[in-house]
Amino acid sequence: MSDSPPELTTRCCIAGGGPAGMMLGYLLARAGVDDVVLEKWPDFFRDFRGDTIHPSTLEVLRALGLLHGFLALNPDRAETLGGVIGGLSVTVADFTHLPVHCRFIALIPQWDFLDFLAREARRYPAFHLRMETEATALIEESGRIVGVKANSRDGPLTIRAELVVGADGRHSTMRAQAGLAVKNIGAPMDVLWFRLSRNEKDPTQPFGTFDRGRILVLIARGDYWQCGFVIPKGGFERVRACGLDAFHSDIATLAPALADRVHEIENFDSVKLLSVAVDRLECWQRDGLLCIGDAAHAMSPIGGVGINLAIQDAVAAANILIPAFRRGPPRLEDLKAVQRRREYPTRATQALQVFLQNHVIRNVVGSEKRAPPPWPVRLLGRIPVLRRIPARVIGLGFRPEMPDALKASNH
Ligand SMILES: Cc1cc2nc3c(=O)[nH]c(=O)nc-3n(C[C@H](O)[C@H](O)[C@H](O)COP(=O)(O)OP(=O)(O)OC[C@H]3O[C@@H](n4cnc5c(N)ncnc54)[C@H](O)[C@@H]3O)c2cc1C
Repeated sequence: MSDSPPELTTRCCIAGGGPAGMMLGYLLARAGVDDVVLEKWPDFFRDFRGDTIHPSTLEVLRALGLLHGFLALNPDRAETLGGVIGGLSVTVADFTHLPVHCRFIALIPQWDFLDFLAREARRYPAFHLRMETEATALIEESGRIVGVKANSRDGPLTIRAELVVGADGRHSTMRAQAGLAVKNIGAPMDVLWFRLSRNEKDPTQPFGTFDRGRILVLIARGDYWQCGFVIPKGGFERVRACGLDAFHSDIATLAPALADRVHEIENFDSVKLLSVAVDRLECWQRDGLLCIGDAAHAMSPIGGVGINLAIQDAVAAANILIPAFRRGPPRLEDLKAVQRRREYPTRATQALQVFLQNHVIRNVVGSEKRAPPPWPVRLLGRIPVLRRIPARVIGLGFRPEMPDALKASNH
């Protein structure tokens, strides 16, 4: 009997069952391209990972005939985004005028969205999802990536594939293994995430408060608020050192309506630190390997666009890879075409995020005084039609993608 690990063969092995990996797995399988998605955790239920499904993604779901099923999950709907900035209450984005069918952001726990994609993908025999299977190494032969080594609950496993896709998030093992160079852009802040209970009388729309050196973002999630408290980079130890009472008082100052609930945070163990990273790969591919989503570009939480960029990458990749797979194993040129297609939206979104980080967030989290709202915010307060601009950038992004390869699919 041989001691070598069991070996699977597929056309495309996707490491990572996040939004990018699941959407790509779905699209390839729907077009009849056999794929295996590896997800290291036993389920999709994890800490808060972001809930926002933007109009661009809803358009993709609609084009795929999945919108009805998705909306049946009853996501909350945000037609506007607003906040209190330097004491001024203002709506900053109004999605109700976007030229799309769903003129709102759908808010749903990410694990419900991923479960939904998995259910839909399983309808196609070419889709194979292996939970609790962690990709640990790339297999390289004559300079080309030809598969991955993985650890599953049943032991080690080898998956040979014509193409490996690294969709394993911002701490990507695949990109590290491939030695792809990362350009670290950096961020001046971290975010502390925690929950506070929500009453029926509370508002439903997400909102943020920027004041006196502090930023608090609140996202309604059924019977609780998902709260994000923005602090200067590396500042969590200082927050802890100031103590729980000071933390409660900061939250109550920013959101007086929640002052009666701040004691629900009983200790700092229930407060999770998101170390904000903004980076991107110089080169997203090697022969036989392509990185997409956060593995290719970690996004700042500004605008909550990470899930949607990951989905857009998956759609663009499928549009290029499905015809490529019909010809044979995807060539390096096909993989480069994916980067060419998605590099501009990535760079443009990150440039905007970095601008806001440096000119708004850094000023707020670096100061103890109440700063007056910046002039663009005052303008948005006075001229409602201007709120369509941030709505377009956040809701649709740069160069939204549509799954055009489906026209030629066997669906
Ligand atoms: C606290 C927090 C809040 C956020 N809020 C928002 C928001 O409101 N809106 C928004 O759009 N974005 C938000 N984001 C960002 C968003 O979650 C990501 O941009 C998006 O999920 C990227 O999708 P992805 O598929 O590329 O990677 P990920 O979602 O990171 O998925 C990668 C998957 O790969 C798996 N994996 C990792 N390594 C391996 C391996 N070696 N083998 C197999 N599987 C592996 C992981 O378990 C994970 O499931 C938030 C992120 C965090 C951390």
